[in-house]
Amino acid sequence: MQPEVRKLVIVGGGTAGWITAAAFSRLLGQRLTIELVESEAIGTVGVGEATIPQIIRLNTILGIDEHEFLRATSGTFKLGIEFVDWGKKGSRYLHTFGETGMSLSNVAFHHYWRRSVSGEAAPDPKGLWDYSLHQQAAEQSRFGKLDRVGNTAMTGLAYAYHFDASRYALFLRAYSEKRGVTRTEGIVEAVERDGESGDLTAITLKNGKRVAGDFFIDCTGFRSLLLGGTLGVGYEDWSRWLPCDRALAVPSERLPTLVPYTRATAKDAGWQWRIPLQHRTGNGHVYSSGFTSDDAAADVLLQGLDTKALGDPRPIRFTTGRRETFWAHNCAAIGLSSGFLEPLESTSIHLIQSHVSRLIQLFPRAGNPAAMRDEYNRRCTAEFAQIRDFLILHYHRTDREDSEFWRYCKHMDVPDSLTHKMELFAASGRVGRDHDDLFRDASWVQVMLGQGIMPADYDPMADQIAPAQLTEFLANLRTLIARGIASLPTHEDYLRQHCPAD
Ligand code: FAD
Repeated sequence: MQPEVRKLVIVGGGTAGWITAAAFSRLLGQRLTIELVESEAIGTVGVGEATIPQIIRLNTILGIDEHEFLRATSGTFKLGIEFVDWGKKGSRYLHTFGETGMSLSNVAFHHYWRRSVSGEAAPDPKGLWDYSLHQQAAEQSRFGKLDRVGNTAMTGLAYAYHFDASRYALFLRAYSEKRGVTRTEGIVEAVERDGESGDLTAITLKNGKRVAGDFFIDCTGFRSLLLGGTLGVGYEDWSRWLPCDRALAVPSERLPTLVPYTRATAKDAGWQWRIPLQHRTGNGHVYSSGFTSDDAAADVLLQGLDTKALGDPRPIRFTTGRRETFWAHNCAAIGLSSGFLEPLESTSIHLIQSHVSRLIQLFPRAGNPAAMRDEYNRRCTAEFAQIRDFLILHYHRTDREDSEFWRYCKHMDVPDSLTHKMELFAASGRVGRDHDDLFRDASWVQVMLGQGIMPADYDPMADQIAPAQLTEFLANLRTLIARGIASLPTHEDYLRQHCPAD
């Protein structure tokens, strides 16, 4: 009989460590003793402030009140990401979290829209967004909860959050400690392993303390102290497809109007983010050191700010890719220690959440069974690859050739899985997405169109309705959306009324 898993040790107290502690304490806290070790001297990566709608599910599972959470983290609502200058200079589109238009007879809306512009010599892909509730709300800086638009099947605003990363970790720390998680301060100096199985048995800290455990979760960030370091699990480098490897982050003053979206502006050797929070704005320039210098990147960042900088740019280095396996022996890596796909679509916090939930679903009662490990590794591997392809699409499908970086991205070889998706969409407007893909059809459609792929054809089922009916359907949708938006408060008013920052 294998020994029962009773003591869980989480090493690292950034966003990954504290989400892990919160979820385990909530769902397995009666069974496990949980200890989290972190070092204030080492600190956290300190970025990671934009999310995707799946975070709402995490909050629901944890029983977190949305307004309390936004007040504590100085958060705002996010309806999507505005991409500026990506497909070509001067272009702009919003990858929103919602559906565009409304599907009819099980045919996705964009096929009807494509049909409606099929007589035009050079149809403008941007026309699709005339039917986006999210786009109109974002443009008018409005936000509110709508279950449905009018009495139609069109759903209301799907949203996520922006928040202050350090306040978020503190919020989850308080949550976890309330549920029995012990926090130990100290720098890990050595890791002990069982002589026979090679499993981890304990960590020792610089201050002499020894923390033993049955299962270990490595949340040590890019260091990957346990999985990469002690267990020697290698790293699959994806920088040939996702060439950015550095970032400079700087806070600036609050935006005069709190817009409900992240902005990602393409630059000559990367891109710049702008994340609106209630008390400040988060900014960063993600770039490739192979195509620009750190000094030039800092100038680009500071020149691209919309409000006054509140400090000096802070450098961060990374290599895009993932660990070869995510769980080895009795240790799983969660967060940056498991890999990093760059922040373009705000997927890292989601990956933490999905890895934690998968690990909890497969968590062993006793021992360290290979079947559970294999299943965990198989699913995490697939998830990373799907997100990778979606990110590469933004860089690769571009008309930009105005810098060495963009020429590289445009002409680089990409995974066959992505080539297939782009070809399928270009030919027919169909999306060849896998069923468990994080990004829905609506996301792929918006980014493909936004980056400039206009499908040559549409689904023949969209021909089922008569031309006059189609015209009426589209006109009605535009009216409904305009009415729906007019009924919403401004984003600022919504925040002020429900969740002003503490
Ligand atoms: P860290 O924050 O680095 O935490 C590591 C922890 O391990 C710390 O507590 C540290 O003290 C501890 N530690 C390390 N070594 C030791 C040791 N020897 N002894 C004791 N403790 C130790 N994600 C998003 O979802 N949205 C975004 O908008 C986004 N933007 C990003 C922008 C950039 C430039 C980067 C690099 C990342 C971004 N991310 C984003 C990712 C996000 O920041 C991370 O996924 C998230 O912060 C989790 O980090 P972490 O907890 O894994 O690592």
